[in-house]
Amino acid sequence: MEMITTNCCIVGAGPAGAILALLLARKGIDVTLIEAQKDFNRAFRGDTVHSGTMELLNSLGLADALMQLPHSKLYSGKIEGPVFAAPFEIIDFSALNSPFPYVTMMPQADFLTYVIDQASQYPNFKLRLKTSATALIKTNGEIVGVKFRSGKQQGEIYANVTIAADGRASKLRAASGLPYTKLAAPMDVLWLSLPRQAGEMIKAKGLAGRIGKGAIVLIFERTQDWQIGVVVLKGSYRDIKRAGLASFTNLLRTMIPEFNTTLDALTDWRQVVPLSVEIGRLKEWAKPGLLIIGDAAHTMSPVGGIGINYAIQDAVATANVLYAPLQQNALTFPDLQRVQQQRELGTRIAQRFQAIAQRQIIGRFLNTDVVKPPLPAKLIQRIPVIRKLLARFIAYGAFPVTLAPELQKPISSIANRTC
Ligand SMILES: Cc1cc2nc3c(=O)[nH]c(=O)nc-3n(C[C@H](O)[C@H](O)[C@H](O)COP(=O)(O)OP(=O)(O)OC[C@H]3O[C@@H](n4cnc5c(N)ncnc54)[C@H](O)[C@@H]3O)c2cc1C
Repeated sequence: MEMITTNCCIVGAGPAGAILALLLARKGIDVTLIEAQKDFNRAFRGDTVHSGTMELLNSLGLADALMQLPHSKLYSGKIEGPVFAAPFEIIDFSALNSPFPYVTMMPQADFLTYVIDQASQYPNFKLRLKTSATALIKTNGEIVGVKFRSGKQQGEIYANVTIAADGRASKLRAASGLPYTKLAAPMDVLWLSLPRQAGEMIKAKGLAGRIGKGAIVLIFERTQDWQIGVVVLKGSYRDIKRAGLASFTNLLRTMIPEFNTTLDALTDWRQVVPLSVEIGRLKEWAKPGLLIIGDAAHTMSPVGGIGINYAIQDAVATANVLYAPLQQNALTFPDLQRVQQQRELGTRIAQRFQAIAQRQIIGRFLNTDVVKPPLPAKLIQRIPVIRKLLARFIAYGAFPVTLAPELQKPISSIANRTC
């Protein structure tokens, strides 16, 4: 059995785990990052990089190179549907006081690969793909690492701290025994990716939302394809499937008629990926030796496309708090608790926002009898300042975290090497 010893073991190379690994590796801390999958492909889990994240990367000197990768820029989002007299802008990022006044739309696999490539420049960073954490290792009531499986091999990683960034179905959260509460969400999302012909555009550049009978269609303009999310009532996928693919395709044809030809490519249910939406949260994020962050601590719904931002901000808060104690080998349980103290209120506000949007706006639109726009939608439509505030909230989150100045510069020996 393989045995590894490290200072910090991070489980899960999603946005939270990857950014945290980069920030700690830059400070010379021994980091072992394990990821269950063989690569960073996260189809349908969000391709959004918000202004807050771009500013973080900019402060690390890493934004320019990221922007060399294929991406598109989303300056605003439009919504249209029979209950509205005309299409209207639901969000406007362009007035943000930021060098990046837009959402950078980039395949998450490219974003994560870039972040991991940066971390890989540091010899103290170790990545293991196709390696799943299977259990926590406990000694005298303290968590001292994880057991893992990699193919047929089993092993153990011992660390001063284990960070569980293993997403909404977190195995380590379950293993910790910390109480986790699931909040109701009225919707699920059916995702599909359809080929995009050269030059093909939609009326609303970037993201468009269309409201129809019992469904909302979200259209993301990606570099290679159209990503289409069909928001439906929770649990209704089985009935939709029973009605047949032709009926589902016809619904889409009526809602997005300009995709009539593109929809010919939808020929098999296997092209449709249903994702159950949930919101959930831990009461306590830490135990001695263990810290849980990102979706594992507070599962976000896709509403507003803010989960990635919040996961990354958890990573920043964690790095701010832990890097010095980790460098000095003096980490304490209160250090781990401090991360939750800094992040919990912001994530609760975000989840509340998502729950209200789900119930008051999305849930009502999914009700086929709706004949007039719900009040929050009317307010957004009529008051431009709400659209601007919404953009700020989505771009930065509530109580955004800024990276400690000491973390902006990498340890000097590596800085010289990478210059
Ligand atoms: C349908 C849907 C669409 C969404 N769209 C958006 C969007 O457009 N924008 C947005 O900001 N957010 C979106 N979200 C939310 C977003 O995906 C999450 O909030 C965000 O990915 C959380 O990041 P994370 O790093 O905490 O977890 P994740 O991104 O879930 O990463 C967890 C990682 O841990 C790995 N892992 C899991 N178990 C183990 C294990 N035992 N051992 C090792 N590795 C493990 C996983 O393979 C994964 O790589 C969406 C969510 C859903 C469900």
